[in-house]
Amino acid sequence: MNEKLTRISDYRDTASQYVDMHVHSTMSHDGESTPAEIYERVKELPLAGACLTEHGDYKPELDHCGEFSYEHYDREISRLEEDIKKDDPLLLRGLEFSEPHLYPGDFRRVQEHDFDVITGAIHWLDGIFVGEDHILDKINKFDLFRRYFSKVEAMVEFGGIDVVSHLEFPRRYHGGSFYPLEKLGRIMEKMVDRSIVLEINTAATEKESKDRFLPTSQLLKIYQKAGGQQVVVGSDAHRAEEIGRSFSRVSECIDNLDLEPGYFQGRKFTPYGN
Ligand SMILES: [Zn+2]
Ligand SMILES: [Zn+2]
Repeated sequence: MNEKLTRISDYRDTASQYVDMHVHSTMSHDGESTPAEIYERVKELPLAGACLTEHGDYKPELDHCGEFSYEHYDREISRLEEDIKKDDPLLLRGLEFSEPHLYPGDFRRVQEHDFDVITGAIHWLDGIFVGEDHILDKINKFDLFRRYFSKVEAMVEFGGIDVVSHLEFPRRYHGGSFYPLEKLGRIMEKMVDRSIVLEINTAATEKESKDRFLPTSQLLKIYQKAGGQQVVVGSDAHRAEEIGRSFSRVSECIDNLDLEPGYFQGRKFTPYGN
């Protein structure tokens, strides 16, 4: 057990016991801060650690398809680890695998590496990026969400991931949401069945009103109804300044709903304070 986590777990009214489980560095195609800049920032913040959860994209049409290299990643992280002292924040290893059910061979290969967490994310609806400006010219909002959640269901059904990242992703770009309740209930039940944990992603909160995390409290309640309690929190930072954004607010929301927040280490969920 990391002593820092044990010690700061006394302060349950703050987010200082939290590990930011979703941070991108320059080892992701769209990350802007180096791993060293990220870790320096984490040390300045009242956080217990961060996970470099880089993109693993295997869609053949993408320029950066298959670009993630564990050898490179391992070298960079190992170099930082050499200077980590006993009371320093945790530095964890993660991968955000896009549409794992569509690339089972690549997904199997990444499982062989020493990650603390592998998350699954839906970023694409067939040929279209969910966040594309003009997606709503091609497809109406109801269909966008319906198709998005169907992909999430297929991903969860496929399994093998530890976490579902930014559920309700289209809302980050297009606002609003449609909730196919029956399908959502099924998704949450399958997640609980396969011990897949829900991430609360704080990236959408910058532009939106209070408590508009991904997913919203409404979806978190459906997760709870299906028997889900465990959550991780991730800022989805692509720059060091964004690490831990809105974590105090999210910890309030987690306390209000009485969810069990924690982090993954060695692919195993550990609740804070344990
Ligand atoms: Zn993502
Ligand atoms: Zn991400």
